[in-house]
Amino acid sequence: MPATQRTTLKAGQACGFDLAARGRLRICTPTAHQGGDFSFAGFDQAVTRNVNGWSRHRKPYVLFHLSTGMPMCDGNGRPVLELEQLHSKGAVDIMLPGCWRELYADGRLGCRELISAAIGIERAQLTGMASFFVRSRATDEYYDALSRPGIEAGDYLILRALRDVRVGVSACPDVELPGWSAGEVHVDRLNPASRTH
Ligand SMILES: [Zn+2]
Repeated sequence: MPATQRTTLKAGQACGFDLAARGRLRICTPTAHQGGDFSFAGFDQAVTRNVNGWSRHRKPYVLFHLSTGMPMCDGNGRPVLELEQLHSKGAVDIMLPGCWRELYADGRLGCRELISAAIGIERAQLTGMASFFVRSRATDEYYDALSRPGIEAGDYLILRALRDVRVGVSACPDVELPGWSAGEVHVDRLNPASRTH
């Protein structure tokens, strides 16, 4: 039996994946050209920033990024999905809302439309996004997550479900961000028993 089942997303595509608790997804950029977003119904970015900032620093700090082992929480602070592994210089941002169609002169669907459709909710109900393979900088005034990320071919991350959840994953349709051009994202559904190391 194969350990994985692969879905290939081209720029501007998204897919939903039903995971049972302990189910895992690997998200990979095979040519280092492409990032995107992931989310689930009820993902709360602000609560997640606070829960992980407190857990790491024991102070009411909020984090810009998810690191290995950190959960993504719903609005009640319940952990739903975990970043189990991250193998990339690119970060998993939990500040950005994801792109949306009004940003594009040609009206193409953005990650917010793509992912809300993939998980079966209205766009307005999308309460958080995680953007993968980005690089950020912060000043006293603003946060900029769109610096050239320095990602490499084969960079990947692994998500693990902590409860039953439908996860939406997009390959971002914006091909003009620094360091990105139209490419592919591979999403592999991992056999729970498989080990990557
Ligand atoms: Zn996008």
